[in-house]
Amino acid sequence: MPIRQLPEVLINRIAAGEVVERPASVVKELVENAIDAGASRITVTTAAGGKGLIRIEDDGHGMDQPDLVLSVERHATSKLSEDDLDDIRTLGFRGEALASIGSVAELSISSRTVDADSGLRIDVRNGVRSGPVPLAMNRGTIVEVKNLFANVPARLKFLKTDRAEAGAITDAIKRLAMANPSVHFVLTGTDRSISNWPAVSGPGALEARLAQVMGDDFAQNAVRLATARHGVVVAGLAGLPTFTRANSLSQFYFVNGRSVRDKVLVGAVRAAYADYTFRDRFPVVALYIAIDPGEVDVNVHPAKAELRFRDAGAVRSAVIRAVGEALAAAGFKASTSVAD
Ligand code: ADP
Ligand code: MG
Repeated sequence: MPIRQLPEVLINRIAAGEVVERPASVVKELVENAIDAGASRITVTTAAGGKGLIRIEDDGHGMDQPDLVLSVERHATSKLSEDDLDDIRTLGFRGEALASIGSVAELSISSRTVDADSGLRIDVRNGVRSGPVPLAMNRGTIVEVKNLFANVPARLKFLKTDRAEAGAITDAIKRLAMANPSVHFVLTGTDRSISNWPAVSGPGALEARLAQVMGDDFAQNAVRLATARHGVVVAGLAGLPTFTRANSLSQFYFVNGRSVRDKVLVGAVRAAYADYTFRDRFPVVALYIAIDPGEVDVNVHPAKAELRFRDAGAVRSAVIRAVGEALAAAGFKASTSVAD
């Protein structure tokens, strides 16, 4: 076969594989967009494990006509200027999510800015846009994704049951809600019973949000973290060594407002609890790290769930110290200590 340049629609569908692994990744991208748009209230509705329907409604700044049309183009983003890859402060920045989703699902976006008289709606089918057409709506954006992966049978086949996909969606929203206590989250749809987590603010907001999302018994069986050492701020709640789980699914880690999976943080928590918990038990933690954005590289993974610390040792010792001190203050005394 001769070499040929692939059509844009196909390029997007191939690229979508990286960003859009499963329904939960679509939900994550869309909720992150709503947060980046300054939303104070986000409603997530899903059906059939997100394969049937994903609908995200926000009250953020919305998009005007030119932006709405550009939003579904690949590598189109309002969040990255020429050369600031080293200093990313929004959740999105690749300008890839909407283009990718539009190539593997039926995508509709309705949006209205604060100074527009009405909203506008575009539809994307098989990567091809129609609209915009006007419609009546409140300020903000509504994104609807239907029949996800219907045109990518290979991908559809690898998805788990509706129930498992719905569970992964709930987990993704939990993480986003834990990272953004000042945003009101509502979860609805046929996939789950309704959850309503009103915005919380002021001192204790983080703990209040963790109680909403993770339950009151965690909040009541945990110590509060609040330290800063060598430019590493550690906050959140660390479960008492008497409040453990059989797996690490109840360990949540956040770096600069982003939920992450990171071996350095997991290892530090394991070390901090080594003296108190049995090997096969896992403490429940919600750990928030704040660090100079220049000290972390978040551009190592398409879904941005992984990162790299420039000084992993400093982060590790800050976490061990923070957890160790908080547990010690609660009456748990470690036999080992870490040097500063
Ligand atoms: P990225 O978030 O990486 O910029 P996306 O494909 O997710 O890429 O979105 C493209 C652009 O569309 C964003 O940069 C933003 O300008 C706009 N956009 C997407 N979702 C929303 C939303 N909910 N509210 C306002 N603008 C949005
Ligand atoms: Mg985005």
